[in-house]
Amino acid sequence: MERYGVFGNPIAHSLSPVIHAQFAKQTGLDISYDKILAPVDGFSSSAHSFINQGAKGFNITVPFKIEAFNLATQLSLNAKTAGAVNTIKVDGDELLGENTDGIGLVNDLVNNLDISLKNKVVLILGAGGATRGILLPLLKQSPERLMIANRTASKAKQLALDFSTHGKTCGFGLDKIKDTPVDVIINATSASLDGQMPNIANGVANGAICYDLMYGEQTPFMNWAKANNAKMVMDGLGMLVEQAAAAFKFWTEKQPNTQAVIKHLRS
Ligand code: NDP
Repeated sequence: MERYGVFGNPIAHSLSPVIHAQFAKQTGLDISYDKILAPVDGFSSSAHSFINQGAKGFNITVPFKIEAFNLATQLSLNAKTAGAVNTIKVDGDELLGENTDGIGLVNDLVNNLDISLKNKVVLILGAGGATRGILLPLLKQSPERLMIANRTASKAKQLALDFSTHGKTCGFGLDKIKDTPVDVIINATSASLDGQMPNIANGVANGAICYDLMYGEQTPFMNWAKANNAKMVMDGLGMLVEQAAAAFKFWTEKQPNTQAVIKHLRS
């Protein structure tokens, strides 16, 4: 049996073991996948002890993605660009670091929801770790413009500057969002976790596709989008399953059927 797991703190809420158990069943692989609560100051030693027990790989969630970036001995382009790692594959003495968050979001938008980002105006709310992770995969979809708006304007400006070689990015404060519609709005703030909705112009949602990275309930962002005539409103459950599938493939080279798992979790 091959051993995998997910590190976080807290970790009790994680759906990853359920998702990976279904992937294993679908692909006929004999794997175990555990939730591992690492002490806030003890990620590296917990990870090494898991590796020494013969683990083949693991996921990393809040608050350890940057420490996982430092733990990896080799980094994919996505991981380097994101400055964070959510998946590690153990390959002999090497620890291969990958970031599948952005691939997960794009696969959910493009493959599951049939939303093309080509030539679209995309507004991202938030400039934290999740935004950094999704920017490169989103830019690869050739949007017309990718705007980053954040409560702390300087962080959005800096992020837009970091990705300026790809063109098309700009950054500003939430208060500078215009009251005119865009094509797609992605809520990558953690405001929904606190039951809050960033205070932004309502007109921007009119006819837009609105996607909250948070999942599992009607978030304040989703309620706001519906109340302001959004064309489509989605939570981030599909992204969660798709980022897990990309990690599963990175470890096992097998592509699971994500739609069946999304359907199961939603029911
Ligand atoms: P960070 O802590 O790195 O960043 C949080 C961001 O949210 C910052 O830009 C912060 O602004 C902003 N913010 C927080 N509270 C508010 C508020 N009340 N109003 C406006 N802006 C606010 O978090 P992450 O980037 O790691 O995660 C963001 C979200 O993405 C979380 O909800 C997380 O669960 C979700 N996520 C979902 C995934 C999935 O698979 N579906 C994968 C990864 C993340 P400021 O800079 O001003 O503090």
